[in-house]
Amino acid sequence: MKTDKMGEWRRTHYSSDVGPELDGKEVTVFGWVQEIRDLGGIRFLILQDKNGKVQITIHRDKADSKVLKKAESLQRQYSIGIKGVVRKMGKAPGGAEIIPNEMRIFGVAKQPLPLDITGRTRADIDVRLDARVLDLRREENQAIFRVQHAALEAARSFLSKQGFMEVFTPRIIVSATEGGSALFPVAYFKREAFLAQSPQLYKEQLILDFEKVFEIGPFFRAEESHTRRHLSEFISLDIEEAFATAEDVMKVLEELIHNVCKDVTGNCGRELKLLKHKIEVPKTPFKRFTYDEVLEELEEEKIHIPWGEDIPTPAFRLLGKLHPYYYFLTDWPTKAKAFYIKPRDDNPEISEGFDLMWRWVELSSGGTRIHSKDLLVKRLSEQGLSPESFKHHLQAFDYGMPPHAGWGLGLARLVMALTGIRNIRDVVLFPRDRFRLTP
Ligand code: ATP
Ligand code: MG
Repeated sequence: MKTDKMGEWRRTHYSSDVGPELDGKEVTVFGWVQEIRDLGGIRFLILQDKNGKVQITIHRDKADSKVLKKAESLQRQYSIGIKGVVRKMGKAPGGAEIIPNEMRIFGVAKQPLPLDITGRTRADIDVRLDARVLDLRREENQAIFRVQHAALEAARSFLSKQGFMEVFTPRIIVSATEGGSALFPVAYFKREAFLAQSPQLYKEQLILDFEKVFEIGPFFRAEESHTRRHLSEFISLDIEEAFATAEDVMKVLEELIHNVCKDVTGNCGRELKLLKHKIEVPKTPFKRFTYDEVLEELEEEKIHIPWGEDIPTPAFRLLGKLHPYYYFLTDWPTKAKAFYIKPRDDNPEISEGFDLMWRWVELSSGGTRIHSKDLLVKRLSEQGLSPESFKHHLQAFDYGMPPHAGWGLGLARLVMALTGIRNIRDVVLFPRDRFRLTP
C-alpha cells in the first residue's frame, strides 16, 4: 500500500490536549490506530499517541470521499495523521472528538498483529516480550516506564541537592567486584575481560577526589537462578560518601525513597490510576531490625536459620508478610557480606552492612566500607579472592583513604515497589535473563 508523506504537516495538539474547550477549532493530531469501531453510518477510530487516546469520528454521509476511502483501508496500529475539527462530545474519551477533514497514512502494520494491542486479551509474558514494542502500546505498560522516569528524575534531583555528583565508571573490567562467580567474560582484544557486576571498587576510589558520588547505570550478573526479581542486566543506582558511616547513608537512602514516592505520587496520578496502584509515601525513619531479631522472629514461625547464614527466599517471603513496608535489616554477620563491608570494631563477627527491604524483596544493600588496606587484604584472602588481582584497587588505599560508606539500589526492584508489579521482566523494557537475549 502506498503511504503518504508527512510533508509540511506538524502536530498541533496531543490527544491529551483535545477537550471540549477546543470545540470548533482545527487541530492536527498524529498517532496510531488503536481501535476501529464500525456502526454502519459512523466509523470511530481510537487514535493513540504518547499522552493517551482521542476519538476520531467519520460520518459516512458527510465525510469527504478521500477521507472515507482512507478510513476504510485502515487497520490497527497504522500510524496516521488527522487534520480535523474538534467537537464537544460528552460520550467520547476526554469529552471531545475530532471530525477529520484530511487524513494521511504514514505507516502500515502487518495483520494479524501478534498481540491484542488494547490488552483486552492478555497474552503470556513470553509472547508479549517477543513483540515487546507492540506490548508497550498498552497504556498500562507505558505507565510503568513513566513511573520509572519520574522516579529517576526525583532520585537525581534529590542526590544532587544533597551534594552528590553523578559519575560514570567502566563497564569493562579485569577483576570481579562481588566475588568471582556470576561474571560475564568478554573477549577484549587479546585479553580476557569481564562485564562489571557493580561500580563498587570505582565509586570507593572516587570518594578520594569527589567525596560524594552517585551513578545510575547498567550492570551485569550471570545469575543462574531464574527468579521474578533477577535479570542478567540491571540498572543500579549507587552512592558512595566519604567521612560517613552506614547509618549516615541509610538516612540518605530512606530520604531518597521518601522523596521518590512523594514525587511519583504527585506527578504520576494518571499512570498510577492506569496501574490500579496506590503508593503509600513512607514516613522516615524506616524501621530497623537486626539480623538477630529477624532470626528470632523466624524461629517463632518455626523457621530455623543457623547464625551466619544468608536468609533464604521462603523466609524472606514470611518476613514480607510480617513487615509489609520499607525496612532496614542491619547487623549482618560479617561472613554473609562482601569483603569490602566493615566488621564492627567491638565485635568483628558482626558487620556494618545493611539491606533495605520492601516487604520480602531486597531493594538495596550497603554499609560502612573497610578503609584500612591491611584489613581489606585480609578480608579478600578470607573470602578466597586474590589480593594480587585487586592491586589497582588496593593502591587507592595508600593515598589517605578516609572512612566511607555507600549503597546500591536496584532500579527495577524499586519500580516493582512503586507500581505493584510482581515480575521484574514487566518493569524492564528489554529484559535479559538466562533464557532471553532477544529482542
Ligand atoms: P539478591 O540477594 O537479591 O540476589 P544481591 O544481594 O546479590 O541481591 P547486591 O549485590 O546487594 O545484590 O546488589 C545491590 C542491589 O542491586 C540489590 O539489592 C538489587 O536491588 C539489585 N540487584 C542485584 N542483582 C540483581 C539482579 N540480578 N537483577 C536485578 N537487580 C539486582
Ligand atoms: Mg544484597
